[in-house]
Amino acid sequence: MATVQEKLFTCTGADKNVLPRNKITIVGVGQVGMACATSVLQKELTDELALVDILEDKLKGEMMDLQHGSLFLKTPKIVASKDYSVTANSRLVVITGGVRQQEGESRLNLVQRNVEVFKFIVPQVVKYSPDCIILVVSNPVDIMTYVTWKLSGLPRSRVIGSGTNLDSARFRYLIAEKLGIHTSSCHAYVLGEHGDSSVPVWSGVNVAGVSLKSFNPDIGTDKDPENWKAVHKQVVDSAYEVIKCKGYTNWAIGMSVADLAESITKNLGRVHPVSTMVKGFYGIDNEVFLSLPCVLGSNGLIDVVNQKLQDAEAAQLKSSADTLWNIQKDLQNL
Ligand code: NAD
Repeated sequence: MATVQEKLFTCTGADKNVLPRNKITIVGVGQVGMACATSVLQKELTDELALVDILEDKLKGEMMDLQHGSLFLKTPKIVASKDYSVTANSRLVVITGGVRQQEGESRLNLVQRNVEVFKFIVPQVVKYSPDCIILVVSNPVDIMTYVTWKLSGLPRSRVIGSGTNLDSARFRYLIAEKLGIHTSSCHAYVLGEHGDSSVPVWSGVNVAGVSLKSFNPDIGTDKDPENWKAVHKQVVDSAYEVIKCKGYTNWAIGMSVADLAESITKNLGRVHPVSTMVKGFYGIDNEVFLSLPCVLGSNGLIDVVNQKLQDAEAAQLKSSADTLWNIQKDLQNL
């Protein structure tokens, strides 16, 4: 006897099981991974969302909880498994898995623990989605992006670190607050290492193309009577402060990852400060990943903006590169 389903639909012969066009996978369903997942879903960026973790109950619970929101979403398929076959045919894979920064722990301290985790994750991701773009979020993000690049064998254009995208968002928010305007109207970049040695590009801070430095030539320096430098210190301290208060950071990084995902999945060609291989830039002679203003589109990193940095800013980038290389050169079996 025919089922309700068979009676309800007039079969046209078309196959309902088409391959996803804009599949996004998130590896790691902790605080950051789930903030990325909800932001990506709310922005309607994907036709299939896959979640991967090593914790099966947590995975199942998070998957079911999101599926129960299907009525309010435009993502028809949400899947999860600890088996990476569930990630097959992803366009974008966001890696947030690994161990989290503890209160007071520097991001660089996390490195070796997360390298071991990535040796398992990255080959599995590439096996099932050889054409994907990988966006690394796990900390220390610049080193983990280098590790992913090495382990994946993918071209540089398809391995991107979230880098100083979040630092720049925090910087813009704090400057905009000080000026009493909306964050989106305050243009500013933090480049270099995500975190402690990040470089605020004061020479480029502007509102409507009007440079703040043109009114205060010493802006951001020790000689600045208005002490704008404190704003960058606040950026550097902010992750530590949020972690001290609530144990982790997640909402802002989730939103910033979804913003990057939007540029990639919609081929927008927008410029974002993200981590890329910077050998050859500003006198850097090792294979390290640091954030520069990058053009992102459906092929991943399309281009890098040739930003004229002041000598002190370029020297700071070089010094971050040396610090990172000193750690990277000792990493085993990449
Ligand atoms: P969390 O501990 O809540 O979640 C980490 C998840 O990774 C856990 O669910 C864990 O089970 C999973 N995991 C561990 N090993 C795994 C493996 N082999 N395969 C798959 N999943 C695995 O941590 P969190 O707060 O979500 O933070 C995640 C990462 O993001 C940390 O490294 C953190 O420092 C980083 N982070 C980066 C930024 C940034 O701007 N780049 C901002 C915030 C946090």
